[in-house]
Amino acid sequence: MEYQRLIDRILLETKPLAKNGKVASYIPALAEVSPEKYGISISTLERQRYNTGDHDVLFSIQSISKVFTFSLAYARLGHKIWERTGREPSGTAFNSLIQLEHEHGIPRNPFINAGAIVVADILLSIFPDPKKVLLDYVRELANNESINYDENVAFSEKASGHRNFALAHFMKSFGNIQNSVEDVLDIYFHQCSLALTTDQLACSFLFLANDGVNPHNNRQILTASQAKRLKALMLTTGLYNESGDFAFRVGMPGKSGVGGGIVAVIPNLLSIATWSPPLNEMGNSVAGFEALERFTTYSGKSVF
Ligand code: GLN
Repeated sequence: MEYQRLIDRILLETKPLAKNGKVASYIPALAEVSPEKYGISISTLERQRYNTGDHDVLFSIQSISKVFTFSLAYARLGHKIWERTGREPSGTAFNSLIQLEHEHGIPRNPFINAGAIVVADILLSIFPDPKKVLLDYVRELANNESINYDENVAFSEKASGHRNFALAHFMKSFGNIQNSVEDVLDIYFHQCSLALTTDQLACSFLFLANDGVNPHNNRQILTASQAKRLKALMLTTGLYNESGDFAFRVGMPGKSGVGGGIVAVIPNLLSIATWSPPLNEMGNSVAGFEALERFTTYSGKSVF
């Protein structure tokens, strides 16, 4: 498969679509990012890497970090994690408060904000220094020691994160947040601020294409069953209430973030990451979504 020619072509074809979206502005630091940026990277289990466009520029991975934190917590808690969060699509926006009242503070799934905040709370109960543990984890998965938090983005979100504070306090009133809201959100805002390139992001998700084993050092990160289930969650909830359309049009388990990144995997084959900041109304990258659709269409490869 000529992946290099394929992603070069897809980047050219889909770049103009970015003008149909809007860069996230509710986190002030994200609003400063150029809407013109666009990168695509593929990392394969055969140790090949293919890159095009702005693949070497760091960007804020935002909600994509929810996969890393969930994976860390899931490996420790196993099925007990389902006492704290559900695993059904929410059908509402990623930052919605509505369901939580009816569902007694148990978020629908770990990939909406409420669910990720509960996962941050779990990490804080397990690890004395969860931010360090998370950073080491992502560096190991990406096989790259230079990865770091972007303190400017974390601070900017903390200063404007009223909805996330509301979600956390609301869940605490139901007993589903055990630590202080300030401490839990400090982890959450930092995980969202993780800055990776598309190349690093594609590398860091390869363990999910490899039955839970990190191909860079052969360490079992998740059991094969846990990796399978995490991918099922990505397929059903990874793009918020556009997950159904992503499964329909793209056909890969994926995860998006409001920084404009999307990453997706094909088991036993590869991981692919796109970054184009302008978002559609659901909070997903317009050009990235289309690029991934074209990738599975042109290559004939998907999970279906
Ligand atoms: N940090 C963002 C928020 O909490 C993450 C949301 C996202 O990427 N969808 O609003």
